[in-house]
Amino acid sequence: MSFPIDKAVSILETEVKEYEVPVVDLIAAQSKDPFKVLVATILSARTKDEVTAAACRRLFKKIETHDDLEELTIPELEKIIYPVGFFRNKAKHLAMLPGVLREKFNSQVPDDVDSLVKLPGVGRKTANLVVAVAFNKQAICVDTHVHRIMNIWGYVNTTSPLETEMVLRETLPSQYWIRINSILVAFGQGTCKPVRPHCDRCVLLDICPQINVTPRKVPGIKEAKTVSGGLKKFVSWNVNGLRAALKKGFIDSFHEFDADVIALQEIKVLPDQLPVDILNIDGYASYWYPAQKKGYSGTAIFSRSVPLQVIYGLDNHEFDNEGRVLTLEFEDYFFINIYFPNAQHGLKRLDFKIAFNNAVLHYMDRLSEKKSVVVCGDLNVAHKPIDLANPKSNEKNPGYSPEERAWMDVVTQAGYVDTFRKFNQDPDQYTWWSYRFNARAKNIGWRIDYFLVDPGSEERVKGARIHDDILGSDHCPVSLEFK
Ligand code: SF4
Repeated sequence: MSFPIDKAVSILETEVKEYEVPVVDLIAAQSKDPFKVLVATILSARTKDEVTAAACRRLFKKIETHDDLEELTIPELEKIIYPVGFFRNKAKHLAMLPGVLREKFNSQVPDDVDSLVKLPGVGRKTANLVVAVAFNKQAICVDTHVHRIMNIWGYVNTTSPLETEMVLRETLPSQYWIRINSILVAFGQGTCKPVRPHCDRCVLLDICPQINVTPRKVPGIKEAKTVSGGLKKFVSWNVNGLRAALKKGFIDSFHEFDADVIALQEIKVLPDQLPVDILNIDGYASYWYPAQKKGYSGTAIFSRSVPLQVIYGLDNHEFDNEGRVLTLEFEDYFFINIYFPNAQHGLKRLDFKIAFNNAVLHYMDRLSEKKSVVVCGDLNVAHKPIDLANPKSNEKNPGYSPEERAWMDVVTQAGYVDTFRKFNQDPDQYTWWSYRFNARAKNIGWRIDYFLVDPGSEERVKGARIHDDILGSDHCPVSLEFK
């Protein structure tokens, strides 16, 4: 049976009225200016709508026309539009735009796809969107949501947005061409999400064939709470690049944890570079602290409880540009997620690491004077010989140098409890393995990821585990359970 497109569009038109309006449509409705729609569309590629909207607000405060745009330098543009995705390229394209419009199109924004694609930074999707939204002319913009959802419905059977556009030109009733993109972008962001769509509350469930779809699991999903009393299970994981981990089953692992707080280290990504679904996982609030340097370090926390306060960094400029310390304050404890620096080959960065460690310990002590403290993360140190496969040969190496181990001694002597060792004294329990020499298969590893608690929280600790069966990074997750 073919998919009832008229019925679906009719239902969705009512449904998405309650949803956020896609930013480009909003700008078209507010400004009725093809130039502004064009600029907003260029900025919106691979960027969350709220980020695009904020960048447009800043930019349109400074410019009204392409003449104004020409006054801005590329560095100025970069500063204004940051952090939209690919902001450097987009700044270059915007800087070129007035000249190309003047030379090729008499300083007017053209109203056809073939002309628009000659502008810098304008691909076919952008061009179709400008034609449909700014000029209200017949065009089908095939955003990734349109391509994906049309395939889920079986209305097309295609492998690329371009192919989808071509099939829709033949099959989609013309009255839907202009508005199908806005409808399905809103619907794709709100309900039919790219990962685990919300089929359980979808208005199209009766008619959707759900082709190749894995809907979200409803049982077990809890709404974010406002108090920490119910938080029982905590996970910490150095994902060694969240985008890479996403390709290796991160989301499935995330849901399998069924944890109340999930702390990540070494995310190596800006939140805007991530699919919107990762930022809005149902039942979790998420907090992000990326490093200023691209593709490096950074931490994040997902929490089922909205904290009283989020603290970014140590209030120490020397350390805070690497996004290494992210703290959530709950009612009765601070939850601190830390990615400790690596002392590096030849212990080149040992001084920096020890200075960081001391600043962290001072911070833990300061917070623990107010309320209890739970600390997790990649500490980048194996404390005792039992915590690594080859202690002898690594005695002077980063991660097991005398100075780093001595710092761990100071931490435990100060009363902080290594929760894993509270329950488990077995050797060969590791959380990190080199990617080289088949180390993970041979279990030649290091235990460098921890959950520590201060004495105030020790009595509520029920268990602590290493999840070495979970793949997706060179580290495995570790967890802590409260009674
Ligand atoms: S039933 Fe599920 S797959 Fe189908 S449109 Fe709704 S959310 Fe998407």
